[in-house]
Amino acid sequence: MKTIIEPFRIKVVEPIRMTTREQRQAALAAAHYNVFELAADDVLIDLLTDSGTGAMSQEQWAGVMRGDESYAGSKSFFAFRDAVRNVFGYEHVIPTHQGRAAERILFELVAGKGSVVPNNTHFDTTRANVEHTGARAMDLVADVGRDAAAEHPFKGDIDVARLEALIEEVGPARIPLGMLTITNNAGGGQPVSMANARAVSEVLHRHGIPLFFDACRFAENAWFIKQREPGYADKSILEICREMFALGDGATMSAKKDGMANIGGFLATNDGELAAKARNVLILTEGFPTYGGLAGRDLEAIARGLEEVLHEDYLNYRIASTAYLCDHLHDKGVPVLRPAGGHAVYLDAARFLPHIPRHELPGQALACALYEEAGIRGCEIGTVMFGENAQMELVRLAIPRRVYTQSHIDYVVESVLDVFARREELRGMRITWEPPALRHFTAHFEPLP
Ligand SMILES: *Cc1c(COP(=O)(O)O)cnc(C)c1O
Repeated sequence: MKTIIEPFRIKVVEPIRMTTREQRQAALAAAHYNVFELAADDVLIDLLTDSGTGAMSQEQWAGVMRGDESYAGSKSFFAFRDAVRNVFGYEHVIPTHQGRAAERILFELVAGKGSVVPNNTHFDTTRANVEHTGARAMDLVADVGRDAAAEHPFKGDIDVARLEALIEEVGPARIPLGMLTITNNAGGGQPVSMANARAVSEVLHRHGIPLFFDACRFAENAWFIKQREPGYADKSILEICREMFALGDGATMSAKKDGMANIGGFLATNDGELAAKARNVLILTEGFPTYGGLAGRDLEAIARGLEEVLHEDYLNYRIASTAYLCDHLHDKGVPVLRPAGGHAVYLDAARFLPHIPRHELPGQALACALYEEAGIRGCEIGTVMFGENAQMELVRLAIPRRVYTQSHIDYVVESVLDVFARREELRGMRITWEPPALRHFTAHFEPLP
């Protein structure tokens, strides 16, 4: 098989800045060993997140110029609405400034004290917005989805038996909706199968409970279905997306992921009553219903992004580049979460640094070592982020869309291997200061002697 190449050439370049090890050591110390506190200009390869960090196409930039900034009834809104309807098939499309704004509006309207929201795994903003209403967020991902090493095609699937048991236990009246996150970001970017979505839809609807998708990476999920699920190899990505969304009643979306844009999101649903209420909240907090929290130019960029993300050459390259990084590290014995997900590779810091106990924050130590070694910024997802509730000690290397080339990724592989070769020299970390909530963003650390 031939090399899978980037299906684009480069028209505008953004220089990245080389630094010396001494400069990086100084920058780390000044940032209190928290990579979120580093200036992006001091980072060479930034794998902190794939959210809003992608490169836009020439058509998206042309759309930016054509953006209609009318307050009401903007042409750009209709382009955006039609692009969402084309893929999702939902009648009502409500633009928001990010995914979390769509979540806040949705859960404010449907959830509250005493209600329970099941999901495969709630993303952190989704969980926070559910819990903010007083409701309980339940993660029901199947057991295989919690096993870092298990090779399984659909580790994002919900455990349907546990979903049925939950409905039995609390009663359908207390479950305003069920959610499926595609792909399952907090569970390693692992996909959900069509069969599982169908089963979840069937169970929920049998009890009169709507199904909503957290659709941030819907195109990556559809690509995995096409590759891995029997019966889908000959279907187009658009057909797969439409089949999946037809199983549900609505979706929340961050356009910063598979919207291929730098900002934006939306809430979409077939429920006219819910949509009418959502528009009222929208006007209060985001903006008029034909722009939400966005400029007309943003709506244009998303409209084109939602079309471009369906291209198979793009998805083939996208998923291949993530797998390339994951497989090369795995082949050299580096412990990584398997198999590769869609948008990120996760180093298993607990197995990478077995001499550093969990309370000495192996993920934080590894994230800092990678920056010091090579100017690469990844993000701890473990005890620093989740405290005692952490299920694993991971360092996530998220891949921005259409930004880095294969040689950048080769450099990342080499750099991780360099750190792996001297892993026994690495020491743990301790927290010297932390805020009351979401400590990973701003906590201070110091290396242990
Ligand atoms: C990013 C993300 C969100 C939140 O979207 P924002 O645009 O960052 O507010 C919600 N769910 C999932 C699965 C995400 O990846």
